[in-house]
Parts: sequence; structure tokens; C-alpha cells
Amino acid sequence: MKLYNSLSRSIEDFIPYHEKTVKLYTCGPTVYNYAHIGNLRTYIHEDILEKTLRHLGYDVKRVMNITDVGHLESDADDGEDKMLKGALRENKTVWQVAEYYTEAFFADCKKLNIQKPEIIAKATDYIPQYIDFIKALEEKGYTYFANGNVYFDIAKFPKYTALSKMNLEELRIAHRDDVEEDLHKKNPQDFVLWFTKSKFENQAMKWESPWGVGYPGWHIECSVISLTNLGEQLDIHCGGVDHIPVHHTNEIAQTESFTGKDWTKYWWHAEFLIEKDGKMSKSSGEFLTVSLLEKKQFSPLSYRYFVLNSHYRKQLSFSFDSLEMAQTAYEKLRRRSASLIAAYDATLPLQSLSEPAKGLMARFDDCLADDLNTANAITVLYDVLKSDVSDSEKARLIAAMDTVLSLDLLVPVDEVSSDVHEDEVAWIEEQIALRAEAKKSRDFATADRIRDAFKEKGIVITDTAEGTKWTKN
Ligand code: AMP
Ligand code: ZN
Repeated sequence: MKLYNSLSRSIEDFIPYHEKTVKLYTCGPTVYNYAHIGNLRTYIHEDILEKTLRHLGYDVKRVMNITDVGHLESDADDGEDKMLKGALRENKTVWQVAEYYTEAFFADCKKLNIQKPEIIAKATDYIPQYIDFIKALEEKGYTYFANGNVYFDIAKFPKYTALSKMNLEELRIAHRDDVEEDLHKKNPQDFVLWFTKSKFENQAMKWESPWGVGYPGWHIECSVISLTNLGEQLDIHCGGVDHIPVHHTNEIAQTESFTGKDWTKYWWHAEFLIEKDGKMSKSSGEFLTVSLLEKKQFSPLSYRYFVLNSHYRKQLSFSFDSLEMAQTAYEKLRRRSASLIAAYDATLPLQSLSEPAKGLMARFDDCLADDLNTANAITVLYDVLKSDVSDSEKARLIAAMDTVLSLDLLVPVDEVSSDVHEDEVAWIEEQIALRAEAKKSRDFATADRIRDAFKEKGIVITDTAEGTKWTKN
């Protein structure tokens, strides 16, 4: 398998430290609000990474943290506390906010067929371990205490720019994020390991520590949770590209200073989903969540299909028009594959398939092994449907491919998540009424457009004496 490594900035042969069970760490959500579909794009691709590794024969031990403390608005320790902001907005405690949005996150993941990682670790469950870790760094001389906070001194870690490849001035700009700089730092890139003198008097989450009552900095959770659950050397560490200059850079500095060893072998980063104006935000414009997509009649799996048609290392522009196209294509694909269900035999060994069928499977595997080229892998899926292999072989191949793609291709079409189905029924009935009105007022262009839209979705309508009837193929 070949995988792009952000550390070397090149595509490398994947040779993990741990050949049998790959150790995989993925930065999790900050649970102060719903995840937007940009965040979920990253998690969909991480899900593909994990499932591809398993499909290609590796075991995987995967850990994901849940950030429920310490993440300030700027990744570089400035701005407001995200959890506190969520609590004030909703008139809840930070603990309630964390619990509510953690559940909401996994509910969204479920709808998108993103498998829950084997180990989920809440940042607030590791406080004693952070304290031990900071004490060890302190003993080794990597920290200093100023203005009531414990800082990591980046001057002590010469490889600080290895991942970002930015010089310190570029990093200073990347870290600043338009918020006030902390003048107590020796270096603008130094970062807080433990806050006691918080700017936020009403900080609700605090714990005793050797440096006073306070709470951990954001970056420390990923280092410590990873070290605790996966040991001193990690095969792959994942996150969005925004994490390169600050969060992951700081994670490396503190972890390698602590262990004295190289830490992560492959740094994996997903590019952003962007809107027309070039970014995606939880505060401005329409807040794009899975629920919003559903409200607008899109099934979550159409979004997954949309995402998988792009490469994880390329930015992806989101618009409802492109999602609409993806949904139409996805529904067609589902109907075509679901028509093979009767021919599906789960016990048919892949090794017993015909040579052409094996060839298709090998091409699919090659696409994934080529730095997770999901768009090409989907093309092979269409080639299976077009091929001359038997229906039973087609079904077997699609089932195997869907263990990675997770698009519910062999689930009967009527078993689509029931609330989406209800929404769709409501939409169909509304369109039928609009069409009847259009016909009455002799607006045949509109009536035809509605009929065509039905056709696209596999809905067949028949005008009868009792009114218009519909069925879905
Ligand atoms: P957060 O909850 O803000 O910590 O972000 C969760 C994950 O989503 C992180 O891995 C981020 O790097 C990633 N992320 C944030 N914004 C986007 C975006 N617009 N597109 C894709 N991934 C994103
Ligand atoms: Zn992290």
C-alpha cells in the first residue's frame, strides 16, 4: 500500500512499525456544537483509511479522543474557551454540553456509516496522566512557569518545524489567528501544558495540580491518550490539514521530548471541504450539518458518496447542486446493486471467483492501495455492474467492495433509514400536488419537469381516475 506522508511530503510505501496490528490515532471532535459536514468529511476519509487497512489484511487498533476540555478558539491558546462558549450559549453546564454533542457526533457518524473507533477517550478522563506527563517534561527541562501557566519551551526542541516546514515567522502568523498574543511566552510558539491563571474566571472544569488548580492545554490530550493506549510509537496519526502548523506540531514536540524517540511514522491529513466563499464555519452563514442535509431531502449516504468521489488530499467545494447530482447518481447505483440481492451468496469465497471477477477485485484493491483513491475505486464498482461476470459474482464483488465504501449497496432500497423515507414520501406527495396544479393551469413545462424529476429518482407515476399513483423502483 502507498500512503502520502505529510512529514516527508511524499507518497511512501506503507511499512508500519507494527506490521500485524497497525496503531492508528485520529484526533476527535471538540464537542461544543454539532459537527459540520466539513468535519465529517475528514472522519469519512479516516473511516476509509481504517477499513482499507483491514481490507488489505492488517489488524488495526484505533483510538479517537473527544475534546471536552481545554480547546480555546485559537488553536494556539488564545481566544475564548470553546466549551464554555457552548455552555453559555445553551444555558447548560459544560459537562451537559459535552455529553449532548458527543452523542450527536456519534449519531451523525452512524448515519454516514462511519464506524466507531475501537477506543474512544474523553480528554477529561486522563487528568492524572497529563499531570504525570507534564511533571516528567518539567524534570527534563522542557517547560517553564510564567503568569501562573506551565509552558512548553519550543527552543528546547530543535525539530519543531519538521512537520510544518514553515520557518518560525511563518509559524508565528499561522499560530496567531487574529487574537491577542500571550506576552508571557518566551517564544510566540510556546504553548500551554497546564493553565492555572486562566483568563476565564468562570472556567467550570478545573482540577488540583502541582502548579495550582487549573486545566490542561489542548494539545496534551492527544499525546497522552495516544501514549497510554497505543504505546510510544504510532504508525499513523490523522487529522485535518489545519492541525499541521499548531496542534500536530505541538503534539510531536511534547511527545518526542517525553519519550526521546521518533513518534509517528505516517502523518495523514485530509484537506478541507469548502463553501463558495472558500471556508466553512460553524458561526457564519448556513451551518451545514447532517440534520440540515436531511431536512433538505438529502440522505446522509448521498453525502458519503459525494465525499468519496473526491480525493482526501484535494479541497472539495460544497454546493447543494453538486450534492443533488451525487444523490441522483447514488440512488441509481443503489437500485442497480440492490437488484442483485437475490443472487448474493455471502459464503462464496472470493478465491473461487472467475478470473475476470478476480481481476475487477484486484483493480479495486489497487485503487485503494494507491493512497486511498476512492473515486477510482468507485469507477471500478461501476465496471463490475457493466461487466459480463455472473450476477452472483457481481453481488459478491459489490459486497466485498462495500465493506470499505460502506454505501449500503446490498441493502434493499426500501430499507433506507425510515425518517428519510418518510421525508421522501412527503416530498413525492407535494410534487404530485404541484404537478396537478400545473396541469390544471396548463403549465405543461412544469408538469413535465416534475415528471422528469420523478423519473430520475426511479419514481413512476400513473394518472388514474382516482388521482395520481406512484411507485418506486
Ligand atoms: P474540531 O471539532 O474543530 O476539532 O475538528 C474536527 C476535525 O475536523 C479535525 O480533524 C479538523 O481538522 C477537521 N476539519 C475542520 N474543518 C474542516 C473542513 N472545513 N473540512 C474538513 N475537515 C475539517
Ligand atoms: Zn489531536
